[in-house]
Amino acid sequence: LKMGGMKASEYERSVEDFLGQLSLEEYRHLAGRKDTFETEGIFREYAELFSRSAVLELLQKRQDRPGRHLAEFAAHNHIERQIRDLTEEIANQENAAEVLWEGGRQPFHSACRQLFSEPDRKKRRELEKAISEVVARQNNFRVERIRRQGKIARELGFSDYCNFCEQLSGVSLQALEVETRRFLQETEEVYRAKVTAALEKEGLSLEEATLADLRWVVFAPRWESLFPVDKLLSAAATTLGAMGIELARQKNLHFDLEPRPRKYPRAFCCPVRVPGEVWVVVAPRGGCIDYLAFFHELGHAEHFSHIDPQLPVAYRWLGDKAVSEGFAFVFQALVLKGKWLQENLQVPELPADLTEAWRLVDFCNARRCAARLRFGLELHRRNCDPGLMADRYAQLMEEATLVKASPENYLFDLDDGFYSATYLRAWVFDAGLRGHLRSELGGEWFLSPQAGELLGKLWRRGQEKTAEELAEELRPGSRPEPLHRRLVERMLV
Ligand SMILES: [Zn+2]
Repeated sequence: LKMGGMKASEYERSVEDFLGQLSLEEYRHLAGRKDTFETEGIFREYAELFSRSAVLELLQKRQDRPGRHLAEFAAHNHIERQIRDLTEEIANQENAAEVLWEGGRQPFHSACRQLFSEPDRKKRRELEKAISEVVARQNNFRVERIRRQGKIARELGFSDYCNFCEQLSGVSLQALEVETRRFLQETEEVYRAKVTAALEKEGLSLEEATLADLRWVVFAPRWESLFPVDKLLSAAATTLGAMGIELARQKNLHFDLEPRPRKYPRAFCCPVRVPGEVWVVVAPRGGCIDYLAFFHELGHAEHFSHIDPQLPVAYRWLGDKAVSEGFAFVFQALVLKGKWLQENLQVPELPADLTEAWRLVDFCNARRCAARLRFGLELHRRNCDPGLMADRYAQLMEEATLVKASPENYLFDLDDGFYSATYLRAWVFDAGLRGHLRSELGGEWFLSPQAGELLGKLWRRGQEKTAEELAEELRPGSRPEPLHRRLVERMLV
């Protein structure tokens, strides 16, 4: 029972140290406390954990659940270690890149954010184009990165990177893609009507609109005053308080809300120790998008910070990420509940057009994830012929979103390890979880002190079970419906 020359217990302790250090480096860099992102030293120090021999040995030990989780961890990091130079190069280039726009220069990340709030259509179009030009500059690195992912997966005995991800996660991406394609077909008509109506309200037509136009239409800062920046943290405390969770007593949960020039504009959750030290990091500006993003991360943070410290590392740090994403979606959805707004932000009534707009964003995101999954499967199978795939990306995205996509984004928009599949599964899990909470505690379950108890019981279990297994357990006897039906329901009901 030795992995990379280590005993099983030693190996697991080492996995935990490695993940903690990596997470801490990520926190420091993304929070703007440190300019560079240096993981080389960490990967070198723990190289034994995902050496070829350790990975091959772990691949043979997948008979039980912890074994499967550990093998998945080791194999993915075996790849990541060998493409880390490219990962860092791309990240550093993006960080340093400037977008030329309106005669001035803007840092790349803030330009991406600017796209949400630029009201002038012509300017928005120019900015979108300028961003795509910057993205295109790193595409050769991205192509190389994907080629290496495939090559290393084959060296480990898998037929390609898709097969590698499928075998290790136990999730059939193939079957999921068939389901999500049906979801796209069945909802196309309703989606088309919703998008057309939303665009028309802003004087835009479906034929000429781009993804940036659609994002602006739904994200336009119309409701900013309802979501004041200075109430973000107190709203978290009152929300949790109503569920019977006292935020002030969660000593392992930390918030970093301090503004820093290089802080990453998107909120994120960083577990440095699970459950001992969990960070929620945000560069708060206020507004609906900020609240949605913050509460999403709070959902992750509550999950991680409640995990039973006695569980093995395979259940605390590793396992099915769709479980944690599901908890994050449940918290995120609170922000757009009328009763939640009343209780936490003293907003007397939830504006109907705000609910509509957010549902459209959610819907569009699910359709984009479905397209991204299909694109990822095709890309990794064809061994990445870039000239061919950029147009294919735009085609699949346009079929799914019905608005124009930039072909240059074809690899920028791609996620490692088919994370789009994780989101799709998480949306279904979140629907089941909320259904369970409603049936146990009523429509206003989030105002019940029992909610914290009920969720806490699930949180404590970490990521031992998959999202599907947990959903099944919560609603026993409910006939398993095909995933596409559940997604249709999740988006339309
Ligand atoms: Zn998340």
